[in-house]
Amino acid sequence: MCYCGSEREAQACCLPFIAGQKQPDSAEQLMRSRYSAYCLKDTGYIHRTYAQSKRAENSEASISAFAEHATFVGLEVIQCSESPEHQFVEFKATYLDGSTCITMHERSRFLREDDQWRYLDGELFACPEKKISRNDPCPCQSGKKFKKCHG
Ligand SMILES: [Zn+2]
Ligand SMILES: [Zn+2]
Repeated sequence: MCYCGSEREAQACCLPFIAGQKQPDSAEQLMRSRYSAYCLKDTGYIHRTYAQSKRAENSEASISAFAEHATFVGLEVIQCSESPEHQFVEFKATYLDGSTCITMHERSRFLREDDQWRYLDGELFACPEKKISRNDPCPCQSGKKFKKCHG
């Protein structure tokens, strides 16, 4: 099953985008594939799907430094919308950094560039961080205790 939580096979969902075999048709598909690329720690894909104007400030090294520490355990797409120039995707992406569980709630803005969807920027909403104890249910929703799963 795909990392992005679509309940489709990865090969029929995000992987062909990450492998460069297909282009996402919508900002939502791009956003999902960028999430999956974080799960796979494919920082090259994350970097090249930034809008050109954002690539310098989001270097591959800084993406790597973040991806090293973050284990993504869940994605929830809340809603998608569009304006004449952009598409927007609001989502919650949950990751673990050690035993801290962080939910990133963002409304991302995407644009078309070189005939492809690219990530421009996003508005972040405050989300509390949670410390997970060894006996708590794992935030990846496997149904196992944290210590037996991602702990
Ligand atoms: Zn997917
Ligand atoms: Zn887990």
